Amino acid sequence: MIPSLLPTYNRAPLAFVRGEGSWLVAEDGSRYLDLGAGIAVNALGHANPALVAALTEQAGRVWHVSNVYRIPEQERLAEMLVEKTFADTVFFTNSGTEAAELAIKMARKYWHEKGQPERIEILTFEGAFHGRSTGAIAAAGSEKMVKGYGPLMPGFHALPWGDIAAMKAAITDRTAAVMIEPIQGEGGIRPLPDEDLKAIRALCDATGALLILDEVQCGMGRTGRLFAHEWAGITPDILMVAKGIGGGFPIGAVLATEAAAAAMTAGSHGSTYGGNPLACAVGARVLEIVSDPAFLASVNRKAGLLRQKLEALVAAHPAIFELVRGQGLMLGLRCRVAPADVVAAGYARHVLTVAAADNTLRLLPPLTITEEEIAEAVRRLDAAAAALETAPAASSV
Ligand SMILES: *Cc1c(COP(=O)(O)O)cnc(C)c1O
Repeated sequence: MIPSLLPTYNRAPLAFVRGEGSWLVAEDGSRYLDLGAGIAVNALGHANPALVAALTEQAGRVWHVSNVYRIPEQERLAEMLVEKTFADTVFFTNSGTEAAELAIKMARKYWHEKGQPERIEILTFEGAFHGRSTGAIAAAGSEKMVKGYGPLMPGFHALPWGDIAAMKAAITDRTAAVMIEPIQGEGGIRPLPDEDLKAIRALCDATGALLILDEVQCGMGRTGRLFAHEWAGITPDILMVAKGIGGGFPIGAVLATEAAAAAMTAGSHGSTYGGNPLACAVGARVLEIVSDPAFLASVNRKAGLLRQKLEALVAAHPAIFELVRGQGLMLGLRCRVAPADVVAAGYARHVLTVAAADNTLRLLPPLTITEEEIAEAVRRLDAAAAALETAPAASSV
């Protein structure tokens, strides 16, 4: 008999009733150190007092008004994002998937208004993840996500991951856009080197193709800059944001230049909840905190410490781990065993991690994690790895 919850997840038998900073408290009162942060969502930890205050103050005023009216909280967050980024304009969504949908629509509409409606091709890299809508799965193209859901939206062309020569060969003046994650998240914490991001920007400039960056997972301070592309010194035409920007409250956004967004006129797109006052009140508080240079410096400092400890962990357990990759507090441990087994061994030692593709274990702690918590987390991962060495778990991938 089908369960009352549609069984699309293979869930761990853990339920949390409370959170405090980097910790989650289970039903039985036991505490888990959270290196998953809701998959890079709880950027400022659980029950952060500043965010609780932002949410409850707004909840006492007004929860929801339609986008047929002006929404001051939304205008304020948009102005902040425009001030702090490359963008000239912002549209708010409820999720990363919806940000992907708008990014794709915006690129198509851009070429339609330029008199080239046939210019629809969007180049991507294999291993991409942009969400679960019919458009977003077509963009990502992985067999597992698209199987049985056809026919898919046409126009996407996935190139081998990180293959700049293939990108150079594929991009033409018929390419509408290039859509990539500066660091693939679900794909296994795979960063594109700065040089490659610059090369892709140059290829877009040479052909007129729009550059769409998906920073749903790697953005909002995760890498130690407000957005990951800042490390490469480039800017996109369209940027997808979600996850961390709400700190746990559902909100996403599409940021764009005036030129890229020019075709998006009244009536061309919309959302009932997108940019809701509750979401924007929380988002503004998150952005204020995360964009503070002192906060970003602390992320970089802690990232250096975590990385150093993880390098030592890999060296101590060569049968379990192969290497560390990623940037900032978005780090991956490529495993020599099934990452799901490491995740399970972590549960037993009350440390939460997340598996990803390419045999990778993801570490995406709250950006507010302390140095003591980092040391404690790596001690627990060390114990988990030691347990796997002595009694290898049956793979549950
Ligand atoms: C999570 C994620 C998405 C989808 O976001 P949802 O909020 O789950 O719709 C899109 N792109 C990337 C890179 C993501 O990590």
